[in-house]
Amino acid sequence: MFNLVLFGPPGSGKGTQSENIVTTYNLQHISTGDLLRDEVSRHTPLGTEAKKYMDQGMLVPDEVVIGMIDSKIDENPDARGFIFDGFPRTRNQAESLDKLLEFKNTSINLVLSLEVNETDLIKRLVLRGQTSGRSDDTEEVITKRIKEYHLKTQPVADYYETQGKLERVAGDNPIPETFKLLTKNINKYLLPVA
Ligand code: ADP
Repeated sequence: MFNLVLFGPPGSGKGTQSENIVTTYNLQHISTGDLLRDEVSRHTPLGTEAKKYMDQGMLVPDEVVIGMIDSKIDENPDARGFIFDGFPRTRNQAESLDKLLEFKNTSINLVLSLEVNETDLIKRLVLRGQTSGRSDDTEEVITKRIKEYHLKTQPVADYYETQGKLERVAGDNPIPETFKLLTKNINKYLLPVA
């Protein structure tokens, strides 16, 4: 099994690159953002609770997202591996993920960090907000999400760096170029299927 974390700030291109990685390597995609938005749109109790945080650009409580990840892994027992997108976002989530995977006799193999400068990030997110229909893609909420990222999520990179699993990849080139850089790293571990 091969498990990859795609790491990076909001707007760094994790979602787009995940889609490409999924088809190239046949991995199961787990995006906590997508899972949460799905709960919100179905008006589940979890979704109603999560929406309060998401609309303010704040992180949803750890136990909520960890529970979602646990079920999603169990739903895919035959997966070749998983790509975690938008998770873990706190040090506590990272530690919980390690424990969870250890219990399932597997582990994180590689963490790819997409590096994009802040001015570009905000530009991309504001632009996306004009078409995405996402209630959290307004300039005010975007600023809060980036703040939350620096405060709580950036330490996750140090966590994986200490474990020797982190590779930094430039994320400010055109999409195909960024994808090439990512595959260079993944190919050291896993062969493409497509
Ligand atoms: P982006 O990467 O563009 O910020 P996401 O779709 O990953 O967007 O996340 C949107 C929102 O969902 C976040 O601002 C946060 O409120 C919530 N969220 C997503 N993933 C997590 C997570 N792992 N932990 C806590 N909250 C999360």
